[in-house]
Amino acid sequence: MQITTDAIVIKVNDVGDNDRLITLLTKDYGVVKAFASSAKKIKSKYYSGTALFSYSRFILEQVKGTYRVRDASLNNSFFKIGCDISQISLQQYFCELSYILAPMDESSEMFLRLLLNSMYCINNSKMDEALLKAVFELRILSLSGYTPDLVACNDCGEFDKDIFYFNYNEGIISCEECIYDKNATAILDRTLLSAMRHIIYCDFEKLFSFKIPQEYGLRLSKITEKYLLSQTEQRFSTLDFYNSIL
Ligand SMILES: [Zn+2]
Repeated sequence: MQITTDAIVIKVNDVGDNDRLITLLTKDYGVVKAFASSAKKIKSKYYSGTALFSYSRFILEQVKGTYRVRDASLNNSFFKIGCDISQISLQQYFCELSYILAPMDESSEMFLRLLLNSMYCINNSKMDEALLKAVFELRILSLSGYTPDLVACNDCGEFDKDIFYFNYNEGIISCEECIYDKNATAILDRTLLSAMRHIIYCDFEKLFSFKIPQEYGLRLSKITEKYLLSQTEQRFSTLDFYNSIL
């Protein structure tokens, strides 16, 4: 069986001297692993299309339960010469999150759009890095069923206060009157809460077009990261590396 789909190469494993085992975030079939014979040879017609961070149109053939690359025509490479190490490691982190959180064997168009747009923002320095990290983390969590409820206080329904407490474990907010345990919570002022509401609830077209004061990007990124780690109960080696070089 042959399938044709657009995809980003999110991981590359070398196999021997010539071949690659690539992991793809595809538009139509979720996360897919595929074997690309001779793709490491510079002269291979798959060389560019199967490289890390390439966005390509793939023709894949399933042979005995394994996908094999039959064609890979490059649309765009997000591996830009001149990107600094923190940009590349942020891209790797986004790819690892996509690998863990995107579905298998079903359409993952929204995951692909999120990754494509985020990679574009990194390559073109369209957004503060910390803010972009927060946007990606919170939106991909929402796509995967970990949407926090930020509409109103979980107890009394109040939605318009200067301060709310965000519970990392439960993904809910409480107002000052209702909060009984401030452990594992972050304080959200109006700026932080409206940024998080925007990231979760806005139409995709507006996702990257908002601004908050620069010092807020880092604060927001720390909150979304803690929420992500709490919800997924995983460690991400690419995140540890990204944080180690900041
Ligand atoms: Zn309340």
